[in-house]
Amino acid sequence: MHPESLHVLLVEDSPTDAQLFQHVFLRAATGKWSLVHAERLSEAVDYCQTQSFDVALLDLRLPDSDGLETVTQFNQAAPDIPIIILTATDDEELALQAMAQGAQDYLVKDQVTTQLLRRSVRYAVERSQIIQQLRSSEKKTLEALDKERELNQLKSYFVSMVSHEFRNPLSTLRVMSDILLRFEGRLTPEKKQEYLRQVDTAISHMCQLLDEVILLGRADTGKLELDLTEVDLQAFCNELISALQFSDEQQHILQLVSDTPLERVKLDAGLLRHILTNLLSNALKYSPPASVVKLTVAYQEMQVIFNVSDRGIGIPKADQSRLFETFSRCSNVGKVPGTGLGLAIVKRCVDLHHGTIEVESDAGKGTEVTVVLPVGTLLQRLLDQKFVEARNQVGFPNRD
Ligand code: ATP
Ligand code: MG
Repeated sequence: MHPESLHVLLVEDSPTDAQLFQHVFLRAATGKWSLVHAERLSEAVDYCQTQSFDVALLDLRLPDSDGLETVTQFNQAAPDIPIIILTATDDEELALQAMAQGAQDYLVKDQVTTQLLRRSVRYAVERSQIIQQLRSSEKKTLEALDKERELNQLKSYFVSMVSHEFRNPLSTLRVMSDILLRFEGRLTPEKKQEYLRQVDTAISHMCQLLDEVILLGRADTGKLELDLTEVDLQAFCNELISALQFSDEQQHILQLVSDTPLERVKLDAGLLRHILTNLLSNALKYSPPASVVKLTVAYQEMQVIFNVSDRGIGIPKADQSRLFETFSRCSNVGKVPGTGLGLAIVKRCVDLHHGTIEVESDAGKGTEVTVVLPVGTLLQRLLDQKFVEARNQVGFPNRD
């Protein structure tokens, strides 16, 4: 391979040697080769700040640096530029040491020919490219290992949490089925109904927990994807509010507020359901019976703004920075049950939808959570942009 276009930095303080090299360089040039000459190391380092060089031809004995120190300092200032050492005949030992320090090759000044220079430049550039590729794949491997380690930690956390959380509903199931089996004939129909209801609640709890764990696992392994459909927001919110009102045993006043009737918008209905169900369930769970829980929805320039507010126990300031971490629960929850997964799921859903989430809360006064989701063409534009960025990152040619 003869590099077609090559920008070379020559660092040489002796005018005679520099002239000689320029001469050989001009004859060695096979394509658009260009040369910049520096007489001191500091001058060379300055050039590297403003220009990008493919290779540096470096004399080790310079007015402002001597010996191996020259390689070390140049390497520090410009770690990606391959170095070819220029040496006098009696300096070969030093040149070999310089190579051990990271220089790619060396040339003895009074023996250099056009062919030697061409070959040396070619090897230096190629080797440096290979080293850079190796470094970048090593970095990627380490990142993947880190991710893997994180996922493994999360998995073992899940396993211990799930086994812990499953113990209660499972023992309820065992006790209830035991009673039903052993005393079936002696139980009144009302008692049987009551036990069967407890069985049903325990099963629902386990199913919900499993669904949450599966969802988080899919989000964390990148398997959760956006599925955009036209959604009638008014019907969607009405239905959600009715379902929650129906299952709320504490007579909260659940309100849906919007200035204008809600429109049809293109978004991911599944993600929106996870977001709103978790936020509204929290508002209900952490606020006193019969208090007001409000879902306000507004539409603004291709974005929908959802605000869920309650007048409940609030979130202590000290706990607010960890709200979206898995299994994080605040210090004031008391006996209110929960696993600390809901908001972690909400955050992942909001991120996947290119939205934002903000929490404003005062302990003892109440909480307001605002989620802004881009919809329709704005969302499509953001997704296209992300696609182009991802494509550029893996190095596909840009055909736009
Ligand atoms: P689950 O996984 O069942 O949702 P959870 O409700 O405990 O359990 P998150 O929804 O993730 O978990 O909420 C995390 C914590 O944030 C809660 O445990 C609670 O301390 C606090 N929190 C969330 N929403 C509210 C709210 N509206 N009012 C007061 N505290 C809240
Ligand atoms: Mg919750």
